[in-house]
Amino acid sequence: MTEKCGVVGVSLDGRNAARPLYYGLYALQHRGQESAGIITHDGFQQHSHVDMGLVGDVFDEDDLDQLNGAAGIGHVRYPTAGSVDSSCAQPFSVSFKSGSLGLSHNGNLVNADEIRDELAGMGHAFTSDGDTEAIAHDLARNLLDADLVRAVKRTMQRIHGSYSLTIMHDDTVMGVRDPQGNRPLCIGKLEDGYILASESAAIDTLDGELVRDVRPGELVVLQEDGQGFDSYQLVELENTAHCFFEHVYFARPDSIIDDSLVYEVRRNLGRKLWEESGVESDVVMPVPDSGRAFASGYADAASETTPDGEERDEHDDGVEFAEGLMKNRYVGRTFIMPTQDERERAVRLKLNPIKSTVEGKTVTLIDDSIVRGTTSTQLVQLLKDCGAEEVHMRIGAPPIVAPCYMGIDMATRDELIAADKSVDEIAETIEADSLAYLSTDSVADVLESDRIDLCMGCVTGEYPYDIEGEETDRAVDRPAVGEGTIPADD
Ligand code: AMP
Repeated sequence: MTEKCGVVGVSLDGRNAARPLYYGLYALQHRGQESAGIITHDGFQQHSHVDMGLVGDVFDEDDLDQLNGAAGIGHVRYPTAGSVDSSCAQPFSVSFKSGSLGLSHNGNLVNADEIRDELAGMGHAFTSDGDTEAIAHDLARNLLDADLVRAVKRTMQRIHGSYSLTIMHDDTVMGVRDPQGNRPLCIGKLEDGYILASESAAIDTLDGELVRDVRPGELVVLQEDGQGFDSYQLVELENTAHCFFEHVYFARPDSIIDDSLVYEVRRNLGRKLWEESGVESDVVMPVPDSGRAFASGYADAASETTPDGEERDEHDDGVEFAEGLMKNRYVGRTFIMPTQDERERAVRLKLNPIKSTVEGKTVTLIDDSIVRGTTSTQLVQLLKDCGAEEVHMRIGAPPIVAPCYMGIDMATRDELIAADKSVDEIAETIEADSLAYLSTDSVADVLESDRIDLCMGCVTGEYPYDIEGEETDRAVDRPAVGEGTIPADD
């Protein structure tokens, strides 16, 4: 189960939370297009509207009007290849003896099956096969004999994997980030309350102010009157495992994640790419939209130095930056098309070259990543058909050699072009005149992070979580399931 999603939570001083949640979800639409949902609480009861589809299609005026209450959480869910299953749409809600619970989850647990089996053995009935329900049931059970903070702590000591959660217990809204901070989550201040969101772009949309990121292992409880929030550092680990791919591909460029503006990170990755493997060519062009910031950084660096690192003299303009591929913005993500044939057609539907920018020229094409190789194969061919003399491909991330278990819908090992091919072999397969990727060291450098504080499982094959059958890059502490309740020690 892959849950690459966007989450939001809002607590306001009296005003209904539905509309801010709705706009927040709109801002997070890129994180999930399969389903959308909002749950609110008016102090007496929960109201919920969850459905399959895009945010704009799922809610109409009436739906938003019936979502009463100044507290609420929302969710957008990423499409997974193949099955489209409404039972996994979120927020997930459950009512139990001591109240109602709503949960929005971004991430992926690696021990959900064990928790689910154990809870099922204790009589809990499950309606979906998602991990969110396992978290919800575990939390509901802990809430029977512990206060909110202790209950969350116990659940955090049980679940292992990546999770950024917004939770609503009756009308209390909370946010939790896993102890390694794999997925983003931040806190924002609104005019009349507080918001928790996967990305700061959602806060901007509401004219709010980014307060800070939720810290790895931290529980943030929004005050019910919208006046502030309380923080509890429930788990503290030595190292984080921030997903570098959020910065490379997934997050919006205008979001600030873990203190870095994504756009700036991408531009700096592009600059590094020039330093590491710059190649002189007539034009540099991005694969829109994913390669845009990388290409602009790359072209900037190329205007300052030669590929050997020498400063250019004043008569040498370096490489021209051009938008040579136009995108049809009404075509969705090619990635999720189930067959290869459909994926190829979709690339052609989505991107069209401007012939005059490439004809008779040597071209460097920049993208953030190569997954299966469909996009790059198609684009090299297309540019050559338009008369490009040479096409050099430069990629702003290292080769993706392994799947993501932490929540990005990536592809399986057999589908990943770099899983069993060298860079030269890939260049040959996609028929590029040259191909270069960015090194893992440069990624860590640009993110101003030690390599050990990043999750780079998809490019190293070594994960920061304990995953059956896979290597880890650190000593990971997996919580034991089945030992009964772990007491909270504070
Ligand atoms: P592919 O054509 O399979 O090599 O995919 C590469 C293209 O998909 C690049 O343009 C990326 O920006 C984009 N991409 C990379 N990762 C993902 C992902 N997890 N979901 C959707 N698209 C992606």
